[in-house]
Amino acid sequence: MMPPMATDDDILRTAFRTCPLCEAGCGLEITIKGESVVRIRGDRDDVFSKGFICPKGSTLKQLHDDPDRLRKPLVRRDGVHVEVDWPEAWAEVERGLGGVIERHGRESVAVYLGNPSAHSLSAMMFNRALLQGIGTRQRYSASTVDQLPRQVAGGYVFGTPVSVPVPDLDRTDYLVIMGANPYASNGSLCTAPDFPGRIEAMRARGGTLVVVDPRRSRTAEEADRWLPIRPGTDALLLAAVVNVLAAEGLADPGPHVAPHLNGMSEAIAACEPFTPEAVAAATGLDAEEIRRLARELAAAPSATVYGRIGTTTTEFGTTASWLIDVVNTLTGNLDRAGGAMFTSPVAGSATTRGAGGSGQGFRIGRGSTRVSKHPEVMGEYPAAAMAEEITTPGEGRLRALVTVAGNPVLSTPNSVRLDAALEDLDFMVSVDIYLNETTRHADVILPSPSQLQRGHYDLLLLQFAVRNVANYSEAPLPLHPGQPDEWEILAKLALIAQGQGAEADPALVDDLAIAGLVGRAVVDPSSPIHGRDPDEVLEQLSAERGPARQLDFMLQTGPFGAAFGAVPGGASLRQLQEHPHGIDFGALEPRLPDVLRTPSGKVELAPPELLADVPRLVAAMHALASQPLVLVGRRHLRSNNSWMHNIGVLVKGKPRCTLQVHPDDAARLGLRNGGVARVTSRVGAVDAPVEVTDAIRPGVVSLPHGWGHGQPGTRMRVAAERPGVNSNVLADHEAMDPLSGTSVLNGIPVEVAPV
Ligand code: SF4
Repeated sequence: MMPPMATDDDILRTAFRTCPLCEAGCGLEITIKGESVVRIRGDRDDVFSKGFICPKGSTLKQLHDDPDRLRKPLVRRDGVHVEVDWPEAWAEVERGLGGVIERHGRESVAVYLGNPSAHSLSAMMFNRALLQGIGTRQRYSASTVDQLPRQVAGGYVFGTPVSVPVPDLDRTDYLVIMGANPYASNGSLCTAPDFPGRIEAMRARGGTLVVVDPRRSRTAEEADRWLPIRPGTDALLLAAVVNVLAAEGLADPGPHVAPHLNGMSEAIAACEPFTPEAVAAATGLDAEEIRRLARELAAAPSATVYGRIGTTTTEFGTTASWLIDVVNTLTGNLDRAGGAMFTSPVAGSATTRGAGGSGQGFRIGRGSTRVSKHPEVMGEYPAAAMAEEITTPGEGRLRALVTVAGNPVLSTPNSVRLDAALEDLDFMVSVDIYLNETTRHADVILPSPSQLQRGHYDLLLLQFAVRNVANYSEAPLPLHPGQPDEWEILAKLALIAQGQGAEADPALVDDLAIAGLVGRAVVDPSSPIHGRDPDEVLEQLSAERGPARQLDFMLQTGPFGAAFGAVPGGASLRQLQEHPHGIDFGALEPRLPDVLRTPSGKVELAPPELLADVPRLVAAMHALASQPLVLVGRRHLRSNNSWMHNIGVLVKGKPRCTLQVHPDDAARLGLRNGGVARVTSRVGAVDAPVEVTDAIRPGVVSLPHGWGHGQPGTRMRVAAERPGVNSNVLADHEAMDPLSGTSVLNGIPVEVAPV
C-alpha cells in the first residue's frame, strides 16, 4: 500500500526567535509542525547566545499552549468576565473610555505599562502613540519598582536616561556585582546571554568576582568574595570606596576620560564624611574589607562595578547608581575595555541620534502628582502613587486606567490598597494575555497574540548589550484570521481614545508614525539621511507594516545603518532577515566624548541634584547603624515576575515562596524550618512558610516577589494551585527614593513572629 501523502501539517520546519522573557535575549531554535510547536531549544548559531538558554526559554511552547492564555477579548458583565468578539470589545472600549474622557477629561485616564512591554517590539513602538492618543501625562510603569534610579543617574552624569554604562564582561579582570544575582536573573541593564558563563570565563582567565549582597545568592556562591552588606546601604559602601580612593591617592580617571570630566573634586569632597570606619556599622562591613575593595578596584588591570535591583529599589537608589559611575570613573575604568562601557545600539538610541558630544541634558519635575506631589521622572509618576490618585476625591482624580502587560496588584507597593482602588475606577481596559490579579478589575481585556505569533527585536535591551549586536525574528506562527496584532490593538486604542471610533483603522497610526520619523530625519543636519526626499525614503522602506517598518528605518539610520543605499552593506531590516541568527557588529568601543548629551559636553561627575542628596545620606549613615529586621526580595531562575507562574514545569517542585531567615534570627524569634511566620510591616501582613538558612545575613529576611495568586475572579489555574504570598502587601507606598520615585522593595522594616 502507498504511504499517505505528506500534508503541510506533517512537515517539520524550523524558526528562529529571540527569547523575550528576560533581558538576556537568547536565540531560540523552534521546531514547528503545522501550527504546533514541537520543540524549543537554544539556537547554537545565534551570534550572541551561542545555544545558551535557561529553563524558561523552552516554555514559550507551554505559554503558547496554555489553556488559560486568553484567545478572545473578555468583557465584564455583572462581575463576571465573558468572551466576546473583537468588534463588541472595541465598542465597549469606545463607550467606557470615551465616556470617561468626555465626563472627566483626558488627564483622568492613566496608563500603566508592565515589564513585558519592554520586551515587546510592538509595545516599544506603539505605547507612545497610545499615550498621545489618550492625551494624558498620567503614565505609570514597572520602572518605578525596578531600574529607574540607574537611568536617572545616567541622565544626570552622561546626559540621557539610556546613557547607562554596562560592565564589559568579556574583557574585565575584576567584577563587583552589587544587589544582582545573574545566575538567577541572567542580568539586567546588562544584556548578556549566558551571564554565568561569561563570569566563569572571566574567572578562568584569572579574573576576580566580588558579590555584595545581603544574601549568599547563587552568584555569591560562585564569587571569590561575598560581602554580606546590610540592605539599603550600598550608597554608603560606594561613598566609602570613593573616600579611600581619594585618601590613598588612587583616584585617576585616566588620560582618555580626564579631558571630558567635570566635577571630580566635588564628587570626592562629597564623599569625605564616609570613611570606612564611619560606614562600617551601617553597612555591616568591616572597614578593612572596604579598603581592600577600593585598593583592588584601583589596582586591577581592568575592573567594573555593576549594580542592579538591590541597589536601585532602596531609599538611595539614584545616589548609589551615581556612586557606581563615580567609582568606575575614579578607578580609570570608565569607557575602556574591561571597564564600564557604552553600547552602540544598532537601531540607534538617544546616545547615537543628533549631534554627539553635547545636548540638552536631563531633568525631572515637568509636572507632579496631584496628591503627594511626587515629581515626574522620565515622563512618568511613581506606581506607588497610583492608588491615592484613584481614591482621593477632587479635580484631576483618575477615573480610568489602561494597563498594558502589567500586574501592578502583585508588583507594586501596598497591593491591598491598589487592589481596592482599582474597583473605584469608572472604567478599566487591559491589554493582557491573562485574567490575573490586576486584570480581574478590568471592564475589557484585549489579548495580545502569543509571543510566538509576534516578530521581535529587543529595541530597548540591546541598548545595554555587552556587544554591539542585532537580531530580528519573524513571528514563528501566524495570526489567526481576524486576530489583531499587538501593535494594532495599541493603535486602535489610541484612535478610540482620540475619538475616531471603534471602526478606525490602526494603519493610520502606523502611517503617521513612520511619516513623522522620516520627516524629522530629513531635516535633521545630524541625520545620515539629512536632505533626502522623504517620499523616496518611504518608498525604500520595508513593505511590512507596523513595528517592522519603523525598525527598518531605525536600523538604516542607526550607527551601523545602510542609510537607504548610502552605506553599502549597512544594517537594515532586510539584512537582518537574511541573518536569522543575528549579526555581531563587534565588541564595545570607547565612545567618549560623542556619547555625551550633557549641556557642557562633559561627564558631570558631581551633578547638583546628587550632591544635594548627600546630607540625607550622611543622616542615614547614623540611622541605618541600628536597623531593625528588614525584608529583601529574591529572584529564582524559574520565575519571571508574576506572569510565568502559570507554567507547570516552572513552578513544580518544592514551594519557592518561602521566608528565608538566618538561624540566629530563627532562634531569637522562635521560628522553625517549615513552620509559618507572620511578617508585618507598617502597611500590611502576610503569613509565609519559614526556610531557615545561613545563606542570608542575620537581621535580614527574604521573600520572592510576584506571588500571591489565586484571588477570586482570576483565571490562572496552575498559579492558583501554588499561590504563594504577595511580598508587595508589605511594601510601603510612602517609602521611595525621592530622586526617581522608585519604591523601597529591599530593606523594608518588618516584624516576624511564629503563627
Ligand atoms: S535567560 Fe532569559 S532570554 Fe535566555 S532563555 Fe532564559 S528567559 Fe529566555
